[in-house]
Amino acid sequence: MGLTDTPSSERVHIGFFGLRNAGKSSLVNKITGQELSVVSDVKGTTTDPVRKTMELLPIGPVVIIDTPGLDDIGELGQKRIEKTREILGLTDIAVLVTDASSSFTSEEKELVELFKSKDIPYVVVYNKSDLIEGDIKPVEGNSIVVSSKTGENIYELKELIGKLAADSKEEKYLISDLLHEGDMTVLVIPIDESAPKGRLILPQQLVMRDLLDHGFAFASCRPDELADTLSSFKKAPALVVTDSQAFAEVSKIVPNDVALTSFSILMARYKGELTRLVEGANKLSELKDGSRVLISEGCTHHRQCNDIGTVKLPKLIRKFTGREIELDFTSGREFPTDLSSYDLIVHCGGCMLNDKEMQRRVRVAVEAGVPIVNYGVAIAKMNGILDRSLEPVRKSL
Ligand code: SF4
Repeated sequence: MGLTDTPSSERVHIGFFGLRNAGKSSLVNKITGQELSVVSDVKGTTTDPVRKTMELLPIGPVVIIDTPGLDDIGELGQKRIEKTREILGLTDIAVLVTDASSSFTSEEKELVELFKSKDIPYVVVYNKSDLIEGDIKPVEGNSIVVSSKTGENIYELKELIGKLAADSKEEKYLISDLLHEGDMTVLVIPIDESAPKGRLILPQQLVMRDLLDHGFAFASCRPDELADTLSSFKKAPALVVTDSQAFAEVSKIVPNDVALTSFSILMARYKGELTRLVEGANKLSELKDGSRVLISEGCTHHRQCNDIGTVKLPKLIRKFTGREIELDFTSGREFPTDLSSYDLIVHCGGCMLNDKEMQRRVRVAVEAGVPIVNYGVAIAKMNGILDRSLEPVRKSL
């Protein structure tokens, strides 16, 4: 996987916030070297958050999010402000752009409080230094004085954001922390009509990369080659990881004394939501006639999930429960704010969503008192193999 292919979920999400006309969009364009947003002298021309994935030296792979002005008014403005708050939910580093030639406003102070309350590392950027004579006394701690017009301190700002990103990144492992030196892993990857042509899906790429990064050898094969692959080894592998959809078939082949799990269980653990999702899976058995289930996907193109959400899961849920279940579907950024009418949410693995957005969705569900499970965990549950697939990760539950 090349740097340009770094998935959105693994990129540092940098949100730019500020009042209309603080020069936010011009600053974003200066930092990225690209025309990212609509820039105009008329206040408030940036109507929707603009996102762009890019390599940003010296930070690395990032998603830049330019948000609408905070001080917008009217009904449309209110919606824009709600969007800004929503964007905060997936922001790793927040950049508040303020006009150095004006005083720090109550809205800006409020925003800084919001960053603090959400534990989001932030920097306050005093823009338009070219309009100021003499020194500027920053009112907020982590700050820098720049000019998007002259380019003063733009590189220093990028370095500062990079440092905040590096400081806030906790070391996380997908699989390598489950293994010991010399352990071998087998990855079972079905190559059927739902496998994308010519490449591997994201969880498979990430697991392989983690194994390679930490010096663990692995073999990979399709389900129908698994028995031969296992018998070719002198020593049994420490772990077998399979695609969830092949779990039933694979679990019959892998001896009981060999640990077995799925890519989606590993991904859910990596994203820190496994315990909650397992609780959600257990609710599947409690659904009744007329229960309402929301099936939600994190992207609209479904290129890695094909018809799992729309065809396979609905069939499986109806078969498993034996009930008349009402199903709703959402995809992409669309995720209902009011979930109260649902009995269960079945969400995709969210590989295209960053941790914060996935955690936000889980939190919205929890606050509404609605259990949530992901595809892989739900499929494992409905195929009767959830306990076995959780065994290798039990310690981290
Ligand atoms: S539907 Fe979900 S799991 Fe599938 S590719 Fe999109 S974000 Fe990833």
